[in-house]
Amino acid sequence: MTRDARAPEWAERYSRQIILKEIGGQGQMRLDRAVVGLVADSEILVTTLLYLAGAGIGTLRIRHPDPTRIEPTLAWARDLNPTVTIACAGVDTPIDTWLAGLELVIDLDQGWPERHRACHAARIPLLTTWCDADGLAWISGSRASLDPALPCLACAPPPDPSEPPAPWATLWQGLSGTRLATEAIKYLLDIGDRAVWDHALALDVTRGEPDRRPRRKRPDCPVCARTASRHEAANRTRQLSAPSDQEADAFLDITADTCPMTFVRVKLRLETMASGQTLRVRLSGGEPLMNVPRTLRDQGFKVSEPWNEQGVFGLLVEKTSDSD
Ligand SMILES: [Zn+2]
Repeated sequence: MTRDARAPEWAERYSRQIILKEIGGQGQMRLDRAVVGLVADSEILVTTLLYLAGAGIGTLRIRHPDPTRIEPTLAWARDLNPTVTIACAGVDTPIDTWLAGLELVIDLDQGWPERHRACHAARIPLLTTWCDADGLAWISGSRASLDPALPCLACAPPPDPSEPPAPWATLWQGLSGTRLATEAIKYLLDIGDRAVWDHALALDVTRGEPDRRPRRKRPDCPVCARTASRHEAANRTRQLSAPSDQEADAFLDITADTCPMTFVRVKLRLETMASGQTLRVRLSGGEPLMNVPRTLRDQGFKVSEPWNEQGVFGLLVEKTSDSD
């Protein structure tokens, strides 16, 4: 099978999406370039994975405690759409390694608060779901790491999941799975409303009525408050251009490098530049994103807040007289 957008079978496979004005050929190719992570230890994986694979999300990376157990599900998804890449890693893979290169994570496991902090640090949006004691299925998400004005999931955490599962628990799995997949596609294409990022959204399976509750940013949030203040401080003290202004004197791609070569290459490039010149750096999420900007700031460079560029990150660095 081919992923070439010019091939007739590509257009035929996605024709029902390409005809939508919100998607079109460009949108479909955007989905093909997308790299989405799924954390799963639940039955919701089947619905979410089939929906995303069918929609043509190009790369789907799953994290599961027992990859062999879900082989039938993976085979089903690959059979549904052989053009997408589906990989599965065990939970022994360090979370930062697994997150590197992802542009969105959908966490279907009740233990998602543990991953929320790692996703926030790596600046990767997270969508998740939970069921409350009344049997209501909720979904919400956080992209507070990219937009500090938004609440993260720790600002207004959902109630602890019901134990034992509420009576409607088997019904909400399919609903949550398709809604999360839909919200993921909306995010990747930047279409539709954005309520999922500052509301908890529910569908009451007993009544079929939607419900939404606003989530507010908490100034003392243990996860996102520091990012917000760092972001404000960076804006006050570092007069570097906003991420939309990507003019720079030089460009360096370190997405193929690993620490410590990531920082070493940036440092060597900056040494060839004059004070006041700017270097635009393209880097992966995870360890490079956490370490490279911080080390550059420690050494006196002016560094912008990183911005997300379809799964990798952009950074603008200015050489100053302090850093000479
Ligand atoms: Zn927060």
